Amino acid sequence: MSFFFAIKKFIFDTLFPIECLGCGREGEWLCAACRENIKPDHHSLRGEFLDRIFTFYSYDNEFFKKIIHGLKYKFVEDLASPLGTLLIRELKRIEGQIGKPDFIVPVPLHRKRLLERGFNQSELLALKISEYFGWPVENTVLKRSRATAPQVSQDEAGRKENVGNAFSVVDSLKILNKKIVLLDDVTTTGATMEECAKVLKNAGAKEVLGLALAKG
Ligand SMILES: [Zn+2]
Repeated sequence: MSFFFAIKKFIFDTLFPIECLGCGREGEWLCAACRENIKPDHHSLRGEFLDRIFTFYSYDNEFFKKIIHGLKYKFVEDLASPLGTLLIRELKRIEGQIGKPDFIVPVPLHRKRLLERGFNQSELLALKISEYFGWPVENTVLKRSRATAPQVSQDEAGRKENVGNAFSVVDSLKILNKKIVLLDDVTTTGATMEECAKVLKNAGAKEVLGLALAKG
């Protein structure tokens, strides 16, 4: 965390004490009781470039949506921890279907958005998974070379166009013949992850599996 963000966080935490987004209990953003109440909703699809895509919760769940929003748009970095716990809980159930990847690639943010937000929420989730499953994280092999409008503001055709040619591979040697798990926080049509999978496959990746915490 940069100095600027540390200051911002300190001021924010002082003005707005941390309380559970579900029940208002003070001390944490998402208490264990509220976390337990979040019901999973698993989906698995075959993609065009993604060998398989797995999602674990529904973004239609208003409470879950609120938590993701907190992480993504309100810059509450601390939410990555309970969301990571929720992700690990469900990923454990399908671990056998995934097997062991060579590494995890979080869907990258454009440099500009990373500066605005101060962190990449998908990377924070990837680090949580990495800690638990021991899968390494590679956050430098893929980059978002073009800033894109938020996918939520687009229709289905727009989403595909919006992310077209937005990503590029930085280091093909690291990708060659590798089994990669791509990770994003939310996916709707899967267009962003498909675009990432396309460039990874074109660069020689052997297998690309997509994981998203929630399906929109
Ligand atoms: Zn609570």
